[in-house]
Amino acid sequence: MERVAEMLRKGGYRATPQRLAVYRALLAREDHPCVEMIYADLQETFPTISLNTVYNALQVLCDLGLVRKINIKENQHRYDAHTHPHSHLVCLRCFRIINGPAVANECPQADFQGFEVVACETYFYGYCKQCEGKTPCSNNGVKE
Ligand SMILES: [Zn+2]
Ligand SMILES: [Zn+2]
Repeated sequence: MERVAEMLRKGGYRATPQRLAVYRALLAREDHPCVEMIYADLQETFPTISLNTVYNALQVLCDLGLVRKINIKENQHRYDAHTHPHSHLVCLRCFRIINGPAVANECPQADFQGFEVVACETYFYGYCKQCEGKTPCSNNGVKE
């Protein structure tokens, strides 16, 4: 947590208890919560914190590279404090995001035409264990 406080200060931000609490709450979860979920987690320790404060804290943490923002659907950001290299498995039915294996994330030898690449994210789309097989399959080899 000291490292986070230091990075905030180095980035020109104040290491407020709220910002540190948002980071801690996010780090405690593996399920890539959205801002409302983190807000709910903080209600007990910070009953006066506002959704906007949580949102702003996440924005600051993203800017500093301490938190990754994940976009799976328009207008729904999910957050991840686990910044070690890993891919994401996105369930197309329940929109659960699961940490996937670290896949080769080095930049491919390609011509980016002067574009400066700073990040490369890998997503795998499919169906999670809870959802797979739930669709009634109209054609699974059974003759009608
Ligand atoms: Zn699912
Ligand atoms: Zn993740």
